[in-house]
Order: sequence, then structure tokens, then C-alpha cells
Amino acid sequence: MTDEDRADDDREVVVQIDDADAFAGEPDGLQRLWTPHRMAYIGGQDKPTDSAPGVGCPFCRIPTLPDEQGLVVTRGPAAYVVLNLYPYNSGHLLVCPYRHVPDYTDLTPDEVADIAGLTQTAMRVLREVLAPQGFNLGMNQGDVAGAGIAAHLHQHVVPRWVGDSNFLPIVARTRALPALLADTRARLAAAWPTDSKG
Ligand SMILES: [Zn+2]
Repeated sequence: MTDEDRADDDREVVVQIDDADAFAGEPDGLQRLWTPHRMAYIGGQDKPTDSAPGVGCPFCRIPTLPDEQGLVVTRGPAAYVVLNLYPYNSGHLLVCPYRHVPDYTDLTPDEVADIAGLTQTAMRVLREVLAPQGFNLGMNQGDVAGAGIAAHLHQHVVPRWVGDSNFLPIVARTRALPALLADTRARLAAAWPTDSKG
């Protein structure tokens, strides 16, 4: 990535995404996909300023809140599932370990297993509730890779529909309505199988 590309990154990402269909394969897929939902952080007033564990870290704070307030969909033994406050798409979920660790290699085997299991169930529940036609799963490791909150690992589960990239210029610049997020959270939580809550 050249300095020129980096300088253009924040401003022209939406245009780049529309052009992505023209590429063979997806050599730039992660960068193009994961940058848009950060637009809210880049211009927003809720960008976390403190990456220390505890109150300053949203992923440490969320599990201390009631599910409805924190937009928590379900809680496992080592990780939990939360609706992204800055969604790339409707139903954009994050699977986070409770522990404040930045790197995938920091996870214990129990945390790896819980995150993987919750990710599988999240896909099943999203298919049932929102009927997406595909998914993007991924973790951004480090600021340079596009992590909005690099200090606390989180796995994105992004449902995809044919043609949804046409709406990126809209969703990337518009904050999701809290009422809509609350409704989506309630629907996903109700559909979550009780035997997988850990
Ligand atoms: Zn944290």
C-alpha cells in the first residue's frame, strides 16, 4: 500500500468498493470490505479514546450491561455475541472474548472453541431470521489491518445479500437507528437456540 493509497483510503473507499466487482478473485477483499463500517468511527463522536481494559474499552464494558442496553444477543462461557453499533449490514454481529486480549494467538483453547461455536450458531440464527445469501467472517488484527478497536479481539460476522454493496454509500455514512438495532437484537436473541448458550 503506497502513501498515496493510504491518504485516499478514508475518502474514496466507497468508490473502491463499487469497483471491487471488476477484480478477478478477491486480493483486496478484506481491506475493501472492512473499511466502510469504520467510517462512523473516523467521523463519529463515539470513537473509543482509551484502549485500556475496563471502562475505556467498549468490548469490556458491554458484558457488564443488560443485554438490551448493550445489544448483547447471547453469552457463552468464554465469549459473547453483540450487535455491531456501526453495522456494515443489517445483522452485523461481533463475537468477542470476555478477556481483553488483542491477538488471536493470545486466546486460550476454550476461548477459540467458544468463539468458533458462537460464530457457527450466529450464522444459523442469522439465516433463520434475516435469510442472508452469504457471509463475511473475519478478524482485523491491529490498527494497520483496519481494526477499529485493536486492543480487544472481535470476530465480525457480516450477513450478505446479492446487491447489498449497492447500498454501501448509504450505510457507510448513516448511523443505524437505535430502535432498529434493538429490534434486530431481540429477534436474534429469541431465535438463538437455548442449548447453545453454554
Ligand atoms: Zn476490552
